Amino acid sequence: MNGGIYLDHAATTPVRREVRDRLDEAVESTFGNASSIHTFGQDAKRVLEESRETVATLIGAEPGEIIFTGGGTESDNLAVRGAAYALKEKGNHIITTAIEHPAVLSCCRSLEAEGFAVTYLPVDRSCRVRPEWILDAIRPETILVSVMFANNETGAIQPISEIGEIAGRAGVLFHTDAIQAVGKVPINVSDLGVDLLSMSAHKIYGPKGVGGLFVKQGTPLRPIVYGGHHERNLRPGTENVPGIAAFARALELSIGELPEARERLALLKEKLASGVEGRIQQVHRNCGPGECLPNILNMSFSGVDGEALLMNLDMMGVAVSTGSACSSGATEPSHVLLAMGLEPLLAQASLRISFGRDNTEEQVDRVLDILPDIVNRLRDVGDARAIR
Ligand SMILES: *Cc1c(COP(=O)(O)O)cnc(C)c1O
Repeated sequence: MNGGIYLDHAATTPVRREVRDRLDEAVESTFGNASSIHTFGQDAKRVLEESRETVATLIGAEPGEIIFTGGGTESDNLAVRGAAYALKEKGNHIITTAIEHPAVLSCCRSLEAEGFAVTYLPVDRSCRVRPEWILDAIRPETILVSVMFANNETGAIQPISEIGEIAGRAGVLFHTDAIQAVGKVPINVSDLGVDLLSMSAHKIYGPKGVGGLFVKQGTPLRPIVYGGHHERNLRPGTENVPGIAAFARALELSIGELPEARERLALLKEKLASGVEGRIQQVHRNCGPGECLPNILNMSFSGVDGEALLMNLDMMGVAVSTGSACSSGATEPSHVLLAMGLEPLLAQASLRISFGRDNTEEQVDRVLDILPDIVNRLRDVGDARAIR
C-alpha cells in the first residue's frame, strides 16, 4: 500500500492475505498439467475439481455447471457469443440493456456486425430495467436475454429473478453478468432462473485474469476459442490451477463474510453520502430508490468536472473513479448515467466511490474534510470561465 485511501474497489481489489497464501501454495505444490496422467497431473486435477465444487456449492450450482475462464470479460463473451452461435439456427435476436459493461456491450455490437439483431433496452431514472420491457421486447426469433445483476457504476441491482421468470416462460436463454454482485449480495442460481452467470476473481480480492461462468445443465453453448478438451470443450487451454484455487478461496471468504461485510460497507457508504450532502450544495446520488450494492456510491456534483475532481482527490491521496475504469481515458460522459437520463454535463460531473474491506470511518472523515474545498475551488474555476 502507498498510504493512500483506496476507494475504487469496483475497478479492482487487492489480493487478500488468505488468497495470496492459497495462490502461493498452489503455485508451489500443484504445478502439474491437470490433463497429465501422472501423479503431478492428478494432484493439479484434484485441486481443480475441488475448486470447482467449492465455487458451485457457493452459488447453488452443480460442479459440472462451472466453467473456469480467463476473467470476467471472457466469461461474458463466452456466454453471449457462445449462446448466439449455438442458437443461430433458431433465431438471431438478442435483448440486453444500455447500461451493460463493455464486455457485454462490445460483444453485442460485434454480433450485430455478423448479422444478429440486438435490442438495447433503456433504464429508468434509478438505473433499472423494468421486467415488462423485457417481455415486450421478446420476439419469436429472440434467443438470448443478457442483463447484468448489479451495475458497476451506480451499484443498481436489477430485477433478475423477475427477468429470469419471463425469459424462462418464453423459452429464451438468460445470461447475467454478476461480476459486481457475487460476494456482495446472496446469489443462488436456482432461485434466479438464470442459464448463464459470469464471475471474476479480482473484484472479490482474488487475482486478475481468472473467472468463472455458470452454465446450467443442458444450456446450448459453443466455444469461442478452439483447442483441447478442457472445461467440457468450452474453454480450451491448460487450466490456471493456482489462479482457480485462489478464486475459489476468494469466493468462499467473501460469501462467508457477506452479512457483516454488507452491513459495514453500507454504513461507510451512508456516512460518506450523508456527510457530502450535509457539506456540499447541489449534489445528488445516482442510485435509488431501490436496491443497490452496499459498496458503490455514485454522486454528481453540479458544475464540477468529474475528471478534475478525481485528479484533485488523487493528489490528496484519495483514489476514486469517474465511471467504469474500462472507459476512463476517454472523456465521454458515462453511457450508464446518460441512459438514466442525466444531462451530459451532469453525467460528466459524477464520481464513483466504491468501498472495500480495508476502508475505515477515519478514511471517510478524511474524505469529508478535503472534498468540500476541492469542489468549491473547481466550481469557482468553472464560474470564472463562464464569466469570461
Ligand atoms: C470488472 C467487470 C467486468 C470485467 O471483468 P474482468 O475480470 O476485469 O475482465 C465485467 N463486468 C462487470 C460488471 C465488471 O464489473
